[in-house]
Amino acid sequence: MTINLKDLPVDVGVVYEGERIRSGDMFIELGGPKVDYKAELVRARKKEEIEDEKVIVIGRDIQELEEGSRVPFGVLVEIYGKKIEKDLEPVIERRIHDFINYIHGMMHLNQRYDIWCRISKEAKNSNLTFEDVGKAIIYLFKAEFSFIEKIQVTLMTDEKEIKKFYDDAVAVYNERDSRIRGMKDDEVEEFYSCTLCQSFAPNHICVISPQRSSLCGALSWLDCRAAYKIDPEGSNFPIPKGDVIDGEKGEFSGVNEAIKESSHGDLERIYMYSMFDFPHTSCGCFETIAFYMPEVDGVGIVDRNFKGEAINGLRFSTMAGQTGGGEQTVGFLGVGVNWMTSPKFLSADGGWERIVWIPSHIKERVKEFIPAEIHDKIPTEKDVKNLDELKGFLEEKKHPIVERWVEEEVVEAAEEGLVPEVAAGEEMPIVSAPTMALPGTGGIKIILKNAKIYADKVIIKKVEK
Ligand code: SF4
Repeated sequence: MTINLKDLPVDVGVVYEGERIRSGDMFIELGGPKVDYKAELVRARKKEEIEDEKVIVIGRDIQELEEGSRVPFGVLVEIYGKKIEKDLEPVIERRIHDFINYIHGMMHLNQRYDIWCRISKEAKNSNLTFEDVGKAIIYLFKAEFSFIEKIQVTLMTDEKEIKKFYDDAVAVYNERDSRIRGMKDDEVEEFYSCTLCQSFAPNHICVISPQRSSLCGALSWLDCRAAYKIDPEGSNFPIPKGDVIDGEKGEFSGVNEAIKESSHGDLERIYMYSMFDFPHTSCGCFETIAFYMPEVDGVGIVDRNFKGEAINGLRFSTMAGQTGGGEQTVGFLGVGVNWMTSPKFLSADGGWERIVWIPSHIKERVKEFIPAEIHDKIPTEKDVKNLDELKGFLEEKKHPIVERWVEEEVVEAAEEGLVPEVAAGEEMPIVSAPTMALPGTGGIKIILKNAKIYADKVIIKKVEK
């Protein structure tokens, strides 16, 4: 290797991984939520297609950008090696996140089309250039993966170029995601782990199955299997499923053992297909958050690019604090968009029939995977603005969740001894209670003792106060 990290104007090392660059210290932002086009991609190439250790910069360099600007950003890493197959691309790509974070004065968040980087004023003042950034990336990849024989890095800030690159990258992501579709959890003996995010969420591992992709959206079961084959000591190892404890909720003895070990005994069990009781843990890289809304007994989805408040009045960033960190948080779950295309997506909680709100751009992305009969019944930010409007929309469109409200009201009433439980189609004529208070007026209270009331029908309505 011809690159020497000592020649770079800033330090590079794992010690800088947790460095946060706050807006006051920031020189520029690359990608991020305020920029439409950003992406990172690793591609396996033929030997003759790339030049080893070459860095290409397209667009303005760090020193040419204005302080405080937010610019589109593209990172293309092209690699060659006899052992490298296409299957490995996503696994290697996920490491761009770590390696950019190793550069002192640079911060990298998220993955794929969601990347969000910052360069500090201090790094700018040290004369850092994209050529240096590219060299650091090349050095770290070669040091980590001995099977990389040639590597070339292209960094882009030119909007026109990035638009084209973004479209190509999204096509690659879609192609990768489609490879796993059709495979079933029942058909495999083992799932895979990913422990990459333990550096900031020490209790967390992702358990990745054919029908449950990672919450960051970057890795599928096939990717993890490929990674394990080439690097058995790495962060993706097989998790034998063991016994099926609950097939509907997705509880497996082998997964529970892995979770117990990774959480150092803090957690004992997880459900793979539910966000209630024992949900999968979430680190911080999730593409979206699924959040439960007790007001409608439904689940909303919000992604990190959604601008403004979700339908429950909370921003993504507020809910992210509650969801992440590797904790098991009932009612909040980090979800990769790709999981929404799986029949096992929250299947134990009702799947798409439980989803009552979703941002329009996410709905558009997964529209072909939303059952046709429910698609128009799930509102977006374009249809409703608050919980009252949401309730009205769901009732008007006869969203299946509305049936749950009726069922729950009847069950609640039955539990309070007001309504006897009856099977569908049976008559429900008698309300019987040892003591019952009727609402009175004018200071008079009416109490019936040992009363039996006969009725043809009982209608239970919630009264707005
Ligand atoms: S979110 Fe999960 S799959 Fe993605 S990098 Fe982190 S641990 Fe790995």
